[in-house]
Amino acid sequence: MESKEPVINVGILTSDVISFVLNGVYQCSNGENHSGEKQVLCKDGKIYFNNQFYDELVFTPVVSSTDFELKDVIIGINFHWERKENQRFGGSLKFIIDNRSLIAINEIGTEDYLTSVISSEMSATASIELLKAHAVISRSWLLKPMMSGNESFTKSANEAEITANEIVVWYERDCHSQFDVCADDHCQRYQGVTKSSVENVKIAIESTKGEVLVSDGKICDARFSKSCGGMSEHFENCWAPIHFPYLTPVYDLLPQTVASLPDLKNQKVANDWIRQSPPSFCNTTDKSILGQVLNNYDQETTDFYRWKVEYSQKELADIISQRSGIDFGEICDLIPLERGDSGRIIRLNIVGTKRSITVGKELEIRKWLSNSHLYSSAFVVDRLEFINNIPQKFTLTGAGWGHGVGLCQIGAAVMGECGYKYQEILQHYFKGASLERFY
Ligand SMILES: [Zn+2]
Ligand SMILES: [Zn+2]
Repeated sequence: MESKEPVINVGILTSDVISFVLNGVYQCSNGENHSGEKQVLCKDGKIYFNNQFYDELVFTPVVSSTDFELKDVIIGINFHWERKENQRFGGSLKFIIDNRSLIAINEIGTEDYLTSVISSEMSATASIELLKAHAVISRSWLLKPMMSGNESFTKSANEAEITANEIVVWYERDCHSQFDVCADDHCQRYQGVTKSSVENVKIAIESTKGEVLVSDGKICDARFSKSCGGMSEHFENCWAPIHFPYLTPVYDLLPQTVASLPDLKNQKVANDWIRQSPPSFCNTTDKSILGQVLNNYDQETTDFYRWKVEYSQKELADIISQRSGIDFGEICDLIPLERGDSGRIIRLNIVGTKRSITVGKELEIRKWLSNSHLYSSAFVVDRLEFINNIPQKFTLTGAGWGHGVGLCQIGAAVMGECGYKYQEILQHYFKGASLERFY
């Protein structure tokens, strides 16, 4: 595998009006040089800048160390930490129009992009081995679709299997047609150069430069989530029905005692597992370790390994009807029909007084049952306080945070603290994959 470091197009912001500051001289694709405060608008389906209309506009820094600032960038879209920030970026600034809306795109080298992504995802206190492991999976995840062309990656939008009583939806990562990745959690959280001057992150990126996870001669689709909950999940239980040998269930503890792996696809076994708090790498309350993976606004959440959510009948019925667009009437029951290897529910039957529908996969379930997102779909349901056979209260007891496929970030942080090398961390979560230098 030999190649050149690719330039990444990151979609940052969509708005009718975008204000930005060029902190130095930029050459514009219209032949002019610009610096200082600027504004572009979307007008009659075109880009409107300095009394002229354009289909595309690119600002390239004359000196490569120059940066620019974008105003009012929304981060954490639809998550509980959603907020607006001004953000600074290296590389070039490109504006395009897609579907009559204006999009700001940052063109940036892969390694610079990764430095920012790892800095946004991780705290400066993270162990160097955790940062290296993260650099490799972020690089693999990023380069896989770009390098595999159409061969193994469809550019299709979200997939769905919808019948009258069943809605099974999953969300492919690569539903962007106008750029490679977006700057939000949908792809990888990218916040420009604001926090990218963390020394350990630079060291981790440089010492793993171009390194990716490989399986069967191809770059791995290296997924990760916050906490597996004790057991990681099959890829195909969260997304398209494709089997990746390196995205299979891993008990999040070493040494592996294979004989005792619980069968969490079984409802009874999953029920016991979720209600207990079994030992695993990510079963930790150590604030200094959690602080390595969870940025400030994420640390609002610490009950991720085992969590509880309580709803009144009205709250739950309102949330489900709002989030699904379907009126179920009063909610009678939430019945897990199928679980994955981590205990995550793949198909959930929602029984209401007006109708009954089965929903999947894990992310859709998490969306339907919360105003933001439920931490995970690995949960058990308790119905309480019945009036006329209708429960007035629901308690969801759950495990883990995120889809649980691939690397468990909190588990990996604990491994790093325990002295495991990044190669060992990657081996643990991505069974059978190997490390190769791509450029
Ligand atoms: Zn995205
Ligand atoms: Zn874990």
